[in-house]
Amino acid sequence: MDISWNPWHGCHKLSAGCQNCYVYRTDAKYGKNSNEVKQTGDYNLPIKKARNGDYKIKAGAIVYTCFTSDFFVEDADLWRGDVWRMIRTRSDLTFFIITKRIDRFYVSLPPDWGTGYDNVVICCTAENQSMADFRLPIYKKLPIAHKMIICSPLLESINLMPYLDHTIEKVTVGGESGSNARICDYEWVLDIHDQCVKKRVTFWFQQTGARFRKANKIYSIERKLQHSQAKKANINFDGTK
Ligand code: SF4
Repeated sequence: MDISWNPWHGCHKLSAGCQNCYVYRTDAKYGKNSNEVKQTGDYNLPIKKARNGDYKIKAGAIVYTCFTSDFFVEDADLWRGDVWRMIRTRSDLTFFIITKRIDRFYVSLPPDWGTGYDNVVICCTAENQSMADFRLPIYKKLPIAHKMIICSPLLESINLMPYLDHTIEKVTVGGESGSNARICDYEWVLDIHDQCVKKRVTFWFQQTGARFRKANKIYSIERKLQHSQAKKANINFDGTK
């Protein structure tokens, strides 16, 4: 079962990929200030128990963590230690974290982290070449048990070759959604696919985004079709062939 857990909400725009941030777009509809980072009522969700004493989140769930903020955002530095403790307590769950602040990985890291908790996947995003060249050399050296690279929203062609090795479990690529979405070009997607095939790293084309260019033609793609259109391209690679 998949669960969303947002211990805090709000974030600060940081790089090109943040321009049309989903959190900002959604909050704007309700007049909320996304730039203010606040704990949510779900702060303790993984350790909350039902009346019968069982955890509310059942063992085996995948917990998508901090998807309305950035796990490593500065404002949460004093809370993150608590959250790491909850994550350690629930070693029966898998916590999936995506960040644009991998350079802040060591801030509030628990003392028993070692080579990484086995129940934590930390994904580093790289939307363009400059962010790939800044974040991925840092990411490569970090003690993390499960690593994935996310190129989304993909804004240009990216050379990932120096960063792809057996420690990267998957590369995910996707375009941008929303009414102001920037173009995602299929050639960029294919190029990353080819790099993954060369390096035998699993590749997943997650979604096309709202404005997708293929053979110099730009297509507007409805939100509900963006995943299925990507699947139709049939270019996912399991890293083994
Ligand atoms: S880091 Fe993520 S959540 Fe924060 S502003 Fe950028 S896109 Fe939004």
